[in-house]
Amino acid sequence: MAYDIYGNDLRRGYCEVHPHVHQEYPCDICCREIEQSNRQNEYNKQMQKDYYKSIDPSFDMETTRIVIDLLVVRIPKTDLNSGLLDIDFNGQYLIQIKKEDDSDLWKVTNAMNGYGHNCFEEFKKSEVSFLSN
Ligand SMILES: [Zn+2]
Repeated sequence: MAYDIYGNDLRRGYCEVHPHVHQEYPCDICCREIEQSNRQNEYNKQMQKDYYKSIDPSFDMETTRIVIDLLVVRIPKTDLNSGLLDIDFNGQYLIQIKKEDDSDLWKVTNAMNGYGHNCFEEFKKSEVSFLSN
């Protein structure tokens, strides 16, 4: 005897997810649900892209590199004496950079966008480090 997903006996020829439907799995309802879930995933992906676009219309890896390049010139020289800096980039990104020991190399150690969303991964993946001078 087969069982449906709820652990009840499954009648022959009925769907195991929708035991009231006289169709083998996947039944029409299953197919509709799968289709709907695919559409939802596509929608979620698009929403995420739109979200980033709303923050920065040209958001992509190239942008993050440019942002960091711009950061370099925005750091006041006196601040460079400190080994750790928090930089507010036009309210769009809050980026923390740390000076590497015994070098002029600075690396991004934390990054948030203006909505408080952690975007360090995006910056980390861009593998940017730079010289302070
Ligand atoms: Zn079904």
